[in-house]
Amino acid sequence: MWFLVPKVILDGGQLVLLYLFGESVIAVDMFLNLTSSNASEASELLSNIFIVISCVFLFYTLPTLVLAFHSTLLKNKLPVDFRWRWAKRGGILLLISLLVCSSSAFLDYRFLFKNDVYPGNAIYNLCFAINKSRKNTNYKKTSAGFTFNSVKTERADGKREVYVLVVGETGRAMEWSLYGYERETTPNLQKTPNLIYLKDAITQSNNTHKSVPVILSAASAENYAILYEQKSIVTAFKEAGFKTVVIANQKLTTSIIECFYREADTFIDISSFKTGSYLKSPYDDALLPYLEKEMTESAGNLFIVLHTYGSHFNYYERYPREFSIFTPDKADGIRAALKKELRNAYDNTICYTDYVLSEIIKRIDKSNTCAALAYLTDHGEDIFDDKRNRYLHASPIPTYYQLHIPYIYWFSEDYKASFPEKYDWISKHADLPVSTNSLFHTILDVANIKTDVSDMSYALSSELFEVRDRMYLGDHDDPVPFWEIGLKKQDFEMLDKWNIVYEKKQ
Ligand SMILES: [Zn+2]
Repeated sequence: MWFLVPKVILDGGQLVLLYLFGESVIAVDMFLNLTSSNASEASELLSNIFIVISCVFLFYTLPTLVLAFHSTLLKNKLPVDFRWRWAKRGGILLLISLLVCSSSAFLDYRFLFKNDVYPGNAIYNLCFAINKSRKNTNYKKTSAGFTFNSVKTERADGKREVYVLVVGETGRAMEWSLYGYERETTPNLQKTPNLIYLKDAITQSNNTHKSVPVILSAASAENYAILYEQKSIVTAFKEAGFKTVVIANQKLTTSIIECFYREADTFIDISSFKTGSYLKSPYDDALLPYLEKEMTESAGNLFIVLHTYGSHFNYYERYPREFSIFTPDKADGIRAALKKELRNAYDNTICYTDYVLSEIIKRIDKSNTCAALAYLTDHGEDIFDDKRNRYLHASPIPTYYQLHIPYIYWFSEDYKASFPEKYDWISKHADLPVSTNSLFHTILDVANIKTDVSDMSYALSSELFEVRDRMYLGDHDDPVPFWEIGLKKQDFEMLDKWNIVYEKKQ
């Protein structure tokens, strides 16, 4: 038993996971999230699964270890015939398991030891996570010699150029009235001229620490390994002569995202500001004064990344009280019984995001520059949407609700007058299936910046844009067509309802 202590601990984690999702092994991302989460995020989540963790500890981990200790003290030994009997039963179970595994070929499933046999798969994932965190740590070294060779190919005549990327958090397109939601959650954006929204946009990962790097770099689910050798979009703009500014309202320490942001001329980390409690984060409108200051302080071309906290759980904490539009919205935890309150609070976060985005656009618009803005979120969220009673995101197998994201572009009048063809191409492509990996190539093309890694077949603003099968970034950083990652009947029904393109089985 003492030899098996590491497994007993692993079992505890696995039991909690099975309770939460009813499927899959402890994923690489879960091990990584243990080290990359911050205190307020962790406490918000842990308080909700505290009872499950306590039960597993009290009924499994603790009794197992106490019994083992007790037996050692008594020097108990099991009788030989008892051992034989259980060895035989174990052997038979092993044979049956092997037979079942070998039948996977008939079920159109590729059986792999590292994916399908516990605890081998959990240990494999742990090693994978350790290796990946080492790669993250070494990122500065492995990317040091990289250059984009950025060239600005065209300029707006006599005009200052400003490009803004807003990275959202936990957004569900289905909850935006711009996308057809019955509640009015995005009234300001719906009134904003020159705004294009991409109807069929899905994310390549349901995990912030994997999804945001895809947004900020040339890496995709298809070639995720290049992430460690290349720099981010911040450097691509910097090389082209832009002043680069990042203002973030999210704790991103220990992740590669922070390394990306440190490439900027100015990096303002709002999440580190004091709010009076380590459990509280500033609201997203705290970004606005800093944006305004950066817009007025310098005169040259500017690239700004704004990283919001958006709709991250706990929803009620993400907006000031005057945005309590849908009520009741206060939920004292995350349970199916509180679905109404949670959905109300979630919708209020969208109303607030609508306000913050429109305030950002107003500030850029009044600067009378040749300007464009892109906004998309890193992933969606489950909020007890169907009888599976799933909640939050970053589960080993996502759902429709975690995949379908809002994705918009906005252009100033000056931009439209200077580069009308770019605006027209994005408008023409607005109904096509796209992923988060289009952002990097599109925003660089919008800014007329060519780099060594630019690929116009990903740029929505180019006539060379190509529709392709959309990949999801698997747990071992491998590309998987998103309709083959284990989505369920309920998910396919929603994909059909929202006209999301995927390969249908004959
Ligand atoms: Zn996220």
